[in-house]
Amino acid sequence: MGNYNVNENGYYGNFGGAYIPEILYGNVERLRNSYLELMKESSFREEFSSLLHDYAGRPTALYFARRLSGKYGAKIYLKREDLNHTGAHKITNALGQVLLARRMGKTRIIAETGAGQHGVATATVCALFGMKCLVYMGKLDVERQHLNVQKMKMLGAEVIPVTGGNMTLKDATNDAIRDWCCNPSDTFYVIGSTIGPHPYPDMVARLQSVISAEIKRQLEEKEGRDYPDYLLACVGGGSNAAGAFYHYLDNEKVQFLVAEAAGKGVDTDMSAATIQLGREGIIHGCRTLIMQNEDGQIEEPYSISAGLDYPGVGPIHAFMAREGRSQVFAVTDEEALEAAFELTALEGIIPALESSHALGILRKQQFKKEDIVVINLSGRGDKDMSTYVQYI
Ligand SMILES: *Cc1c(COP(=O)(O)O)cnc(C)c1O
Repeated sequence: MGNYNVNENGYYGNFGGAYIPEILYGNVERLRNSYLELMKESSFREEFSSLLHDYAGRPTALYFARRLSGKYGAKIYLKREDLNHTGAHKITNALGQVLLARRMGKTRIIAETGAGQHGVATATVCALFGMKCLVYMGKLDVERQHLNVQKMKMLGAEVIPVTGGNMTLKDATNDAIRDWCCNPSDTFYVIGSTIGPHPYPDMVARLQSVISAEIKRQLEEKEGRDYPDYLLACVGGGSNAAGAFYHYLDNEKVQFLVAEAAGKGVDTDMSAATIQLGREGIIHGCRTLIMQNEDGQIEEPYSISAGLDYPGVGPIHAFMAREGRSQVFAVTDEEALEAAFELTALEGIIPALESSHALGILRKQQFKKEDIVVINLSGRGDKDMSTYVQYI
């Protein structure tokens, strides 16, 4: 049986590590030396779990989807991360990291965001604690994601449009790291997924692991056994999937099926299927699979779903896919849209476009009637309505 947790050097097999400028060594080292201790403290756990309960709305429901189950011939449950405050799993991570930042005496929070969802979650928690919040965002994304920019501003965050490079997420990330380098003592960098230098991928997976802790309890109650046969999730950077898988990593009876965004198709040049198409390299401070050209230049990925439109992937997912622990499905824009309309028609739930990619796996995998299948429904579809309306 493999070990899919991070090792003491911050690696998952060949993937992970901490590739950072020297000026940040001390900062990252302090975080690395303290995050496990801080997360174990009972006062942290109490504060975190009471906020998750009273503020974010956890535990999220595990819902038996009767009509969807009938259609695909398996017992399908939806883990309703879409019911969280701010509409997705991201608030859990933002709450956890800002609480850690406060305990480390940090007063200034920075974040980067692509679609704006992580920026909104971070700005929300900063408003809750009255903390200063700066969000770096590519200028192109600022223009594309107007509503989220307005939300962040209303929440009191400063949104900084980044004009370097292609003016998208990777450029925003570069500027956030640059800011962190200039302000290492008072600033905490809140990363939105299981990416970045060690210990971020492990820290984010642990914060999100509340998802699988809840699934265990809820399945025990509903099925009399605490694990499913299949767990399905979409992977952008990989945090909702890592959280849903966490307590099952070493239980090989649970098969992990992950969806990455194929965009217009993996054989076109408009795709974000990083695990299938990527090659090893360094991005955002860690070694992982990356969409890059022959010269090692990062290629701009494409997906209809802004949250999956990322040129790298969390090192834990690169590793699990390589080891055969997870099975990876590339789901196209078209397939995700069909899955979104199907869930809406059958269950009255409008999913986020990201989550629709996980739903898209249902058509690609054969199940047995008695199989228990849990789909992590990472977010709700409100933010995607203009895309859905265009499709109609
Ligand atoms: C951001 C986002 C994702 C992708 O991020 P992960 O870190 O891979 O989970 C997926 N679903 C929703 C709804 C999101 O907002």
